[in-house]
Amino acid sequence: EAKKQGRNNYQWFDPKLDESTSRTLKIRHALKAGIEHKQFELHYQPQFDLANNEIIGCEALVRWNHPTMGMISPVEFISIAEDTGQIVTLGRWILRRACKDFAELRNRMLSDATVSVNISAIQLLRQEFVGDVETALKESKLPARCLVLEMTESVLVESPQLVSRKLSELEDLGVHVALDDFGTGYSSLSYLKDLAVDWVKIDRSFIQELTHDSQNAAITERIISMAHHLKLQVLAEGVETSAQRDYLRRANCDAMQGFLMAKPMPKPALIEFINDYQADAAFDDEREARTL
Ligand code: C2E
Ligand code: MG
Ligand code: MG
Ligand code: MG
Repeated sequence: EAKKQGRNNYQWFDPKLDESTSRTLKIRHALKAGIEHKQFELHYQPQFDLANNEIIGCEALVRWNHPTMGMISPVEFISIAEDTGQIVTLGRWILRRACKDFAELRNRMLSDATVSVNISAIQLLRQEFVGDVETALKESKLPARCLVLEMTESVLVESPQLVSRKLSELEDLGVHVALDDFGTGYSSLSYLKDLAVDWVKIDRSFIQELTHDSQNAAITERIISMAHHLKLQVLAEGVETSAQRDYLRRANCDAMQGFLMAKPMPKPALIEFINDYQADAAFDDEREARTL
């Protein structure tokens, strides 16, 4: 029996089997039914231009609403879905849903507003990935330039040649690519110069310490200026205070996303957020015009 469990058998007999291990196992077992019964939903977090405060798009973030375990964070289940390979099916659903949702949302935003979708390395490296992206765009009638695929820098280091080819194919389709969590991994901008990447997303850990730690501030400023040198745009993740936003604006960062402006929210809440945000902006413009 132990042999049949393969490389996981130690988990069944480990006397130190603790709560977190058993939760991992529970999640692992629940994933199949979760995918079959469509227990997942996408929330959207708006992203803002730092220069003019306009909404430039949103990031799709998956949520698992389990019937008995409640809301499960992607931090918990994405790595498990990657381990089991289920991220391929789940990821395809996420991509299609995000394109479909955004095709409906985008008429409320700037015409080149984008939806960003997180892509696991396992998805990107699959032979059918570029075709899946094409299908999602076709089905939803979303223009390719409105889709941004977010991936982490580790994938570039693991399979540089294959990834370089995939990124060129995606560029040919017209979709954009963002490097997520930038600064936490190998973080050499130099190998980006030959790759079809459009955006760099500076990891939240740098942003959090920005106004307290001069070393983090120096790294952030260096990332921004080097990225601009390479013709990449920069978005700061996890902006929580107006001091951080002001700092980033002075440092010429292009865009931001974070709890200061908005948390991830379901699509109906995002529609409401956009309406309120634009009404406020119109009111501010009017007030400014009157005082001039
Ligand atoms: P990520 O792609 O770096 O996403 C940003 C995470 O930071 C999100 O967490 C978001 O809710 C959170 N965040 C945004 N602004 C703030 C802020 O101001 N303060 C703080 N403390 N947090 C902020 P979330 O939704 O829990 O997602 C965590 C990670 O799970 C994502 O990190 C991504 O790596 C992964 N993930 C989420 N959705 C997907 C998906 O659809 N596919 C894949 N492959 N991975 C996903
Ligand atoms: Mg992301
Ligand atoms: Mg990130
Ligand atoms: Mg490009």
